[in-house]
Amino acid sequence: VDLSVKKLQDIVELLREAQHAWAFTGAGVSTESGIPDFRSANSGLWSEIDPMEVASVEGFLHDTPRFYEFWRWRFGILSQAKPNHTHHWLADLEQKELLQGVMTQNIDGLHRKSGSQAVYELHGCYEQGSCIQCQHPYTIEQIFERAQADGHPHCDQCSGLLKPNVTLFGESLPEAFYEAFVELGQCDLLLVLGTSLEVFPAAEMVPQVKHRGGRVVLINAEATGMDGLADVVVHNKLKDVIPALIEMV
Ligand code: NAD
Ligand code: ZN
Repeated sequence: VDLSVKKLQDIVELLREAQHAWAFTGAGVSTESGIPDFRSANSGLWSEIDPMEVASVEGFLHDTPRFYEFWRWRFGILSQAKPNHTHHWLADLEQKELLQGVMTQNIDGLHRKSGSQAVYELHGCYEQGSCIQCQHPYTIEQIFERAQADGHPHCDQCSGLLKPNVTLFGESLPEAFYEAFVELGQCDLLLVLGTSLEVFPAAEMVPQVKHRGGRVVLINAEATGMDGLADVVVHNKLKDVIPALIEMV
């Protein structure tokens, strides 16, 4: 549907012209690695699970065992997932110096695993965690071990509660988020892939680049509220777009 060669050529052209291109990715780049996204119609996670129970600070503090029950299930999926064509393509573009790197809302670590060097994880990564009181670091496996008894993992040092280093709703953002925003000051092309652009402030990146005169390419299966800001919009699955682009670059 609506995937014209002309659009693909335009994307390649924009990539070649750009001096400081960045990719900005969301859960849609990882659905083809078997990780469900949040908001895809029907299949998204939030169609079945209340995000406030398992992805908010209140949910985490109010019902920690429920929070870890969900994350243990999710961990099973995340830890099995492998990078796909989109992750590999972005790593390759960086290698070819057509892309500076990737800014991602994903917490699955797949951009780093595919070989991308410059990766801003705007919402953290699930593999590491820490004590919410003393910040002592723990791996996610260490946290699950400590959660086994009663669903409340406690810090060995201070007995504070342990939390994965993923940004929950209601929580402040990691340093990497602000560093990425500074980096965007130079950005003249933002390649927006697989995101509903409904989570703020991350989605601010798009108008930010646009208002500074940069170009925006948006590839997403469904329409977003920011389609109007983009220079090129493609509404297709990445698996139907990226292999075609790989042939062209
Ligand atoms: P989202 O679920 O809100 O939106 C994903 C978008 O991707 C949807 O609009 C959907 O139509 C599109 N999409 C799904 N599969 C696609 C495909 N194969 N090709 C093209 N488009 C596809 O996700 P978001 O915008 O990233 O926002 C949400 C939050 O979800 C982020 O803060 C992120 O931390 C978190 N999240 C991360 C993961 C992960 O790490 N893999 C998974 C789920 C949610
Ligand atoms: Zn502690």
